[in-house]
Amino acid sequence: MREAMLHAEVGDEQRRGDPTTLRLEARVAELLGKEAAVFLPSGAMCNQISFAVHCRAGDEIIMDRTAHPLNYEAGGPSALVGAVIRPLDGDRGVFTAGQVEEAIRPAGYEMPKTRVVSIEQTTNIRGGVCWTMAAVSAVAEVARRHHLVMHMDGARLLNAVVATGVSATEFAAPFDSTWVDFSKGLGAPVGAALAGSRDFIEAAWVWKHRLGGAMRQSGILAAAALYALDNNVERLAEDHANAGRFANGIAGLPGINLDPATVETNIVVFDVSGTGRSAKEFAERALAEHGVQFSTVGESLVRAVTHLDVDANGIDQAITAVARM
Ligand SMILES: *Cc1c(COP(=O)(O)O)cnc(C)c1O
Repeated sequence: MREAMLHAEVGDEQRRGDPTTLRLEARVAELLGKEAAVFLPSGAMCNQISFAVHCRAGDEIIMDRTAHPLNYEAGGPSALVGAVIRPLDGDRGVFTAGQVEEAIRPAGYEMPKTRVVSIEQTTNIRGGVCWTMAAVSAVAEVARRHHLVMHMDGARLLNAVVATGVSATEFAAPFDSTWVDFSKGLGAPVGAALAGSRDFIEAAWVWKHRLGGAMRQSGILAAAALYALDNNVERLAEDHANAGRFANGIAGLPGINLDPATVETNIVVFDVSGTGRSAKEFAERALAEHGVQFSTVGESLVRAVTHLDVDANGIDQAITAVARM
């Protein structure tokens, strides 16, 4: 990847003159079956620009209570566009068409105007669950009937593709806007690419400049993303196998509450309340005493993520660390 970055052919991205970035954008548009794509510095910017293009102040965005834009994007939809978020209580991040239908505001003057339905593929802080095509299609049907915009946060879309065998094009088809992140499991240092119709991407470019996301020789970064698409997608299956190995290794330990059958991709969320420690204490001790890094996603919920820098030996070390604790 470093070699590919070193040899990248570059130009001025702001003038749409960086050949490597243009190649990446064409590649992502094709991957997601959309007319066009734009390279952005981060996944959060893909979400925020999508909402900014789709919404006016006072519009409402439906998403799961655990969704990234609601919890980890510094209040972006509210701060940048004045949009309201309507959180749903999904099942581990996956909500139903019925829940969407119920949340849609009736026409009138006094309520916010429902505008966007946003889903997360895979569900991040609820354990990397894949939305099935059936669940997506059912939500899309309700959205179409009510003239709503469909957005997919595809930070880990390619994990879902590898885990389910459904193609990225097929998963992306019902969505007006969607994106993939290169800096998660794909292992690139920076970047994500947002895709949609030509008109949508043109409008996204205004926001890219407005937010300071337009770059210069971005081909150095795009080359890393292209390398990741060529070399680091199929190997996501190893991350999924490692997550399964970790889940099976800790599921029977005293104090740990986890059903390993619920682990579908590269994220394992488990409950540590039976250990007598909070998730925060658990994670701090794992790092300080065993060199294993976990995050916390609740008072008693700990989150482990596997990726290309963690091999099976690392997984066994992590299992041993949890067992000792
Ligand atoms: C990481 C993540 C983002 C944000 O992506 P960045 O590239 O870190 O800005 C958005 N949504 C989900 C579900 C994520 O996991």
